[in-house]
Amino acid sequence: MDKREFLKCACLGAGGCVLGLGGIDKLLAWEGGSAFAGQSDDSPGKWSTEAQFVVATSGGFQCRKCPHGCFLGPGDMGRCRNRINLRGKVYSLAYGNPCAVHIDPVEKKPLFHFLPSSHAFSIAAAGCNLRCLNCQNWEISQKSPRETENADMMPARVVDEAVGNGCASIAYTYSEPVTFYEYVFDTATIAREHHTRNIFKSSGYINEAPLRKLCRVIDAANIDLKGFEEKTYQDLNGVRLAPVLETLKVLKQEGVWLEITNLVIPTWTDKPDVIGKMTDWLYANGFADTPLHFSRFMPLYKLDQLPSTPVATLEMARDTALHSGMKYVYIGNVPGHDAENTYCPKCRTLLVERKGYSIMKNRIVAGTCSSCGTRIPGVWS
Ligand SMILES: [Zn+2]
Repeated sequence: MDKREFLKCACLGAGGCVLGLGGIDKLLAWEGGSAFAGQSDDSPGKWSTEAQFVVATSGGFQCRKCPHGCFLGPGDMGRCRNRINLRGKVYSLAYGNPCAVHIDPVEKKPLFHFLPSSHAFSIAAAGCNLRCLNCQNWEISQKSPRETENADMMPARVVDEAVGNGCASIAYTYSEPVTFYEYVFDTATIAREHHTRNIFKSSGYINEAPLRKLCRVIDAANIDLKGFEEKTYQDLNGVRLAPVLETLKVLKQEGVWLEITNLVIPTWTDKPDVIGKMTDWLYANGFADTPLHFSRFMPLYKLDQLPSTPVATLEMARDTALHSGMKYVYIGNVPGHDAENTYCPKCRTLLVERKGYSIMKNRIVAGTCSSCGTRIPGVWS
């Protein structure tokens, strides 16, 4: 099998059977509850590894990787459908078994200020600790790695494939890399040894200790900030807002290159005053230079009855962010829109011209505006 054929075969994200989602309501209980009781007493299998950030408590094992803090009795699986308590140990079921493998332009993550025009070797394993009503990848995110068709790719092989295919980076993406943390960490560690960068595309629902450890091997992150109202976050995404804001602060403190995506969903996250509160918070907390992507919603999954986001709404969001003082504000999923481009915040020169995921022109020279010399934050080489 040649490489192209292999990658084609490994791109299994959209295939496979559809898991019944009847358990969703029950899963929206908060911290501490176990999620899937008594799943199995089988052996954890080849693609498993002992889970990190697990502690023994009087109530059983508690997973402390994410703020859910699932308690796992014998045979129980966490809300992420990834961690399972078997025979006195907690295992991650996602290690070396990605259900999606693609080569993407880095702009697709989206990362606009990180190695433009380069490619990211992109992998996902099944599972997610969120329950977004609008999930784009629910066929893989709302499943356990035991339920998806997977490739056999241990960490060293992922790095070999990335290097062999000329990718500058490896992206942990599509589903939720917090849930395949151990696989991410080991792959990213090897990638660093091969001068390949690592990209964390996440919803940012992770505890501080595992995040700080991950920051040692991650070069760039795009975090979804899915709204700015606590109740909306819980109803729309099944998690709390506050831990996501902490994640943004930690990534910045740790020096990881950060970009933020906000999906503007009609009737859910399109209120001008709430968008204004969000962008004011970002500015006040030192994120003025952090690229912010307002992304257009398309009707999907449980929100397929809604219209796609009007372009005028996205433009309102962008104007609001610029008014707050954010310097690099983009509109996503509207190919050909001016707000796909990077402009110098000082002299307004068009610096990077994009069309969808393609770069038409790049006038950034050594990280500065070629016209006035202003430093443009990012990782440019
Ligand atoms: Zn300039």
